[in-house]
Parts: sequence; structure tokens; C-alpha cells
Amino acid sequence: MDILSIVVPCYNEEEMLPITFESLGAKLKDLIDKKKISPDSFMLFVDDGSKDKTWELIEEENKKNPMVRGLKLAGNVGHQFALTAGLICAKDISDISISIDADLQDDIEVFDQMVDLYHEGNDIVYGVRNKRKTDTFFKRFTAQSFYKVMNFCGAKTIYNHADFRLMSKRSLEQFSQYSEENLFLRGIVPLIGYKTACVYYDRKVRVAGESKYPLKKMLALAIEGITSFSVKPIRFIMLLGFISVILSFAAFVYALVSYFVFTVEPGWTSLIVSIWFLGGVQLISVGLIGEYIGKIYMEVKRRPRYNVEKYIS
Ligand code: UDP
Ligand code: MG
Repeated sequence: MDILSIVVPCYNEEEMLPITFESLGAKLKDLIDKKKISPDSFMLFVDDGSKDKTWELIEEENKKNPMVRGLKLAGNVGHQFALTAGLICAKDISDISISIDADLQDDIEVFDQMVDLYHEGNDIVYGVRNKRKTDTFFKRFTAQSFYKVMNFCGAKTIYNHADFRLMSKRSLEQFSQYSEENLFLRGIVPLIGYKTACVYYDRKVRVAGESKYPLKKMLALAIEGITSFSVKPIRFIMLLGFISVILSFAAFVYALVSYFVFTVEPGWTSLIVSIWFLGGVQLISVGLIGEYIGKIYMEVKRRPRYNVEKYIS
């Protein structure tokens, strides 16, 4: 029978963890009892450099419960890298992995369906949420615009799918070959290929603790990103270009009106419009080239993506 690992990234989740251990543990037992998975299946909690008692709780639970394992990262690397660390660790010791957030906003009852779909030959099963009525308007709006922009730009993401998914051993092995710096799991996983399926569920509200992605943190991260990676300012050049091109249309109207209503020097109209328009086009071009240079800059760094401090089993 296949060994299932449930990979859970945790950052300052001390309030949530006792509930998570309990619910996930019960679900795992349920699946084992139904003989869908091996009795050696386990949960792997990845502590993403938490500042609270998260790791202590994992260690404590590990002593009591053989189904609980832990992976402690040396520092906070963020959700995406923490999850990657967990998955890469899990791929060598299990046959199937399900990744889920510690807050259990995603419905653990669809595990059955996910495992069934895996047994039907799917290598990746995506958890897709039906509606977003439990999210605030702001979160829903920003998140959905984000999916739309991503897809528009050519990165094929699954609509309304966060990082709640089942992956087979071989899809994880393939995933581990993607060693890029700009890691966005939802964009990479669909690139792996293989047969995939979706399960649908309703997303719940967080029952304990608070979102680890508050606006303040997102903004702080943005500023940190700008100053320490110095790629983002390049994007402003492009933005400036777009603004300039848009303004050139306003300038065009203004110049045209001036041409007919006031007396202007001959040639001024075409000149002023060209200056605005070409200036904008040039800024966009420079910005676009800068975007690629910025990407190269990020890739050549080849930084280790995370650093595992400890592994307990
Ligand atoms: N998380 C993490 N590292 C971070 C931030 C978050 O490992 O730096 C984890 C967090 O513990 C949770 C998951 O990522 O298990 C999703 O975070 P959260 O629920 O706060 O995000 P939201 O659901 O509000 O988007
Ligand atoms: Mg959450």
C-alpha cells in the first residue's frame, strides 16, 4: 500500500497546531482504517523559522504520536520555500504527498477523493475551492485579479487553486528538478505534466490564529524586495513608459485643439505628440529589457533556497 505524507508548512501557528494535529491525525487514521493508504503514513510539519512555540509543539507531539514528523528550517523562508522543503523531504520517504496549510481552511474531507483519484492514475490532484465567500472582499478581489493577470501573462495556473494538492512520488521527483529562484509553485506544478484531476471544496474561515499574510507583511515584503533585490525599480521604468504613452494621447488631443483654437507654431503639434509617444515607447522598451536582465540577475545568484536545520522522524 502507498505511504501518504501530509506536508504542512507552519509559521507561528502555535494557536492552530493542537487543532491541526488532532483533525489531521483523525483523518489519517480514517484513511488507514479504510485501507486506502499504508499504516506507515504520516504528517510532516515544516517549521518555517517560527518565533513562537511552533517547533516545541511539533517536537512534543512527535514524542507522543508516531504519525507526526517535523522539519525545522533555520530561518523564515516564506510559505512557498517552506512547502518546497517539506515536499522534497517527503518525496524520498513516501509515495504520495498532500500539501495543506496549517490553518486547515481547506477541507480535509476531500483527502479520500484525492487518494481515489491518485489510484485511478492521476499523478497530481488539485484542490479547487468553489467559492470564496469566507474571504474578505479585498482578499477575494486581489487574489482573483492575480489569477487573471497570471493567466493573461501565460503562466497557466489553476483558477481558485492554492497550494492544496496531492502529488505522486514521481511528480515530486520531477518537481525537484526545478531549481529556480523565482519559485511560484502554482505556476510550476502544471508544467510537470502527467495526468491531473481536480477536487472541489468550500474553503472555511481560519479557526485559530490569524493570517500570516496581513497587508502590513505584504507591504513590508514589497519594500524589502525592492531594496534588496534592486530588480523591481526596473519595473517602474516600464510603468513610466506606459503612463507616458497614455499621456501622449491626451497631449495629442490637447495639441489638436490648440492647433485649431489657438495659433501655434507650425510643426509644434506633431513634434509634441511624437516626443510624448516615442518617449513612452522607449521607456517601455528599456523597462522590458530590464525585466529580463533582472530575471537573469536573480537566476545567476543560485542561492540555496532553504536550509534544513533538523529532521526528526
Ligand atoms: N506560512 C509559512 N511561512 C510564512 C507565512 C506563512 O510557512 O512565512 C504558512 C502558514 O503557517 C500557513 C500557510 O503558510 O500554514 C498559509 O498561510 P496563511 O493561512 O496565513 O495565509 P492565507 O490563508 O491567509 O493566505
Ligand atoms: Mg490560511
